Amino acid sequence: MKVLVLGSGGREHALVWKLRQSPRITKLYCAPGNGGIATEAECVAADVKNVDGLVQLAGKLNPDLTVVGPELPLTLGIVDEFQARGWPIFGPTRAAARLESSKSFAKQFMQRYNIPTPKYAVCASKDELQEALKLFHPPVVVKADGLAAGKGVVIAQSKEEAQTAGEAMFSGKMLGGAGSSIVVEECLQGEELSLLVMSDGERVVPLVATQDHKRVFDDDKGPNTGGMGAYSTDQIIDAQMLDWLVAHIARPVIAGMKAEGAEYKGILYCGIMMTATGPAVLEFNCRFGDPEAQPIMMRMESDLLEAMEASIAGRASAGDFRWSAEPAVCVVMASGGYPGTYEAGKLISGVEEAERVYGVKLFHAGTNRRDGHYYTSGGRVLGVTARGKDLPDAVERAYDAVMKIRFEGMHYRKDIAARGLKRLRAGK
Ligand code: AMP
Repeated sequence: MKVLVLGSGGREHALVWKLRQSPRITKLYCAPGNGGIATEAECVAADVKNVDGLVQLAGKLNPDLTVVGPELPLTLGIVDEFQARGWPIFGPTRAAARLESSKSFAKQFMQRYNIPTPKYAVCASKDELQEALKLFHPPVVVKADGLAAGKGVVIAQSKEEAQTAGEAMFSGKMLGGAGSSIVVEECLQGEELSLLVMSDGERVVPLVATQDHKRVFDDDKGPNTGGMGAYSTDQIIDAQMLDWLVAHIARPVIAGMKAEGAEYKGILYCGIMMTATGPAVLEFNCRFGDPEAQPIMMRMESDLLEAMEASIAGRASAGDFRWSAEPAVCVVMASGGYPGTYEAGKLISGVEEAERVYGVKLFHAGTNRRDGHYYTSGGRVLGVTARGKDLPDAVERAYDAVMKIRFEGMHYRKDIAARGLKRLRAGK
């Protein structure tokens, strides 16, 4: 069986690595892939923004299944194009992916189905924003409506700051069309968690819970990034809370989308804030998170291919998944300057030594390979991911491997999984 994975980040490397363990797959392609993925799959040139080009590519490669990693091709309708041709593809349609591509759609949808989410207002002009801000007490969150690659959210400490951030989004200079409409939202306090579920349009199967680390510096300081690390343990939430989240968030979303004629198949990522008054949804994503996919794949012991096929065929079940009880931790190593501007082309040393650390797997994001060496080619460079007998063990292995890697300007957070370790120490 031939499988094509679309994308080029750490998430796609983790998916390729996991799919490669499936005994039924005889050929794996990744488009466009990266330096690390090239050691596990055949990488083919592609532009994930160009759906017509991807259709042509799939016409040539003729895969039995295509797996879409990033949100952009999903929101541009790649699944609809493949479905129209009868080609098997894993992911939601363009209409279903609106849960991620339009924050105002997602907020209004949650309101229609009583899914807990912070109070909000949708604004399409400076004046509307000024009026809306009268209803909120700072701090207040200002979000671009469209896709903004993690750069469309500002937590403003004053109404003036919120107005300035909103006006910058409207101007189009910062985010193009993504900011032509914005959502203003009450700022919540609490611990965040990511709950990913797989759906076949009707049934919902939760994956293991994760927590990610969005800010660039330790102690959640500095600007937001695409994600500086993530970890997964069974202790992030207990079984009772997991059932609650599935019953009050994931299931109503899937049922609501079906009722509205936009059946949702694939991965639904629910970004949740656990507040003192209960959980609330901050965002939905229509695909695996990156880096969350990396610890999730490290803990998955069942066949990812079987689960994806079951989702497409409308027969998803919890029986499709088996998980290791061992925690997994992913530390992202980034280029100097990321999430701002950075230089690429830096030689990476120590990759082989790092991979020899027991329980460690390196997922590549922004790397390419030339003459037997790896070089940086993006902001997030490597996801150093480890499994361990317990969380301290997984953390130690991940950082042991990190210490063996060098490239000019590299930086990483030193506190990945700190909240999990604190919870352990507190005996919770
Ligand atoms: P989003 O893309 O909507 O998840 O926002 C990115 C990040 O901004 C989240 O992971 C949170 O850390 C933060 N954030 C978003 N919305 C809120 C909110 N209403 N209250 C507090 N923090 C938020």
